[in-house]
Amino acid sequence: MEWRCAECGEPESGKNKALVVCHHCGKLLCLDDRISARNDVFEGDDETANVAYHCTDCYETHHKVSESGQGQPE
Ligand SMILES: [Zn+2]
Ligand SMILES: [Zn+2]
Ligand SMILES: [Zn+2]
Repeated sequence: MEWRCAECGEPESGKNKALVVCHHCGKLLCLDDRISARNDVFEGDDETANVAYHCTDCYETHHKVSESGQGQPE
């Protein structure tokens, strides 16, 4: 079985060597579809772990600060 990007369906091969997992919903994401966001409230104190990967939906839901000032970083 081959892992595929949940957004574009690219298999984990070729240019999309390393798929990562959205840290909210668990979708697999290729290089093109991942959004990495610093997450200041990331649990754990491993400094290398404070960059989390996101799918577009989760990034907008959980991390994007809207222009009206609503929206809390999770
Ligand atoms: Zn993709
Ligand atoms: Zn997600
Ligand atoms: Zn997040």
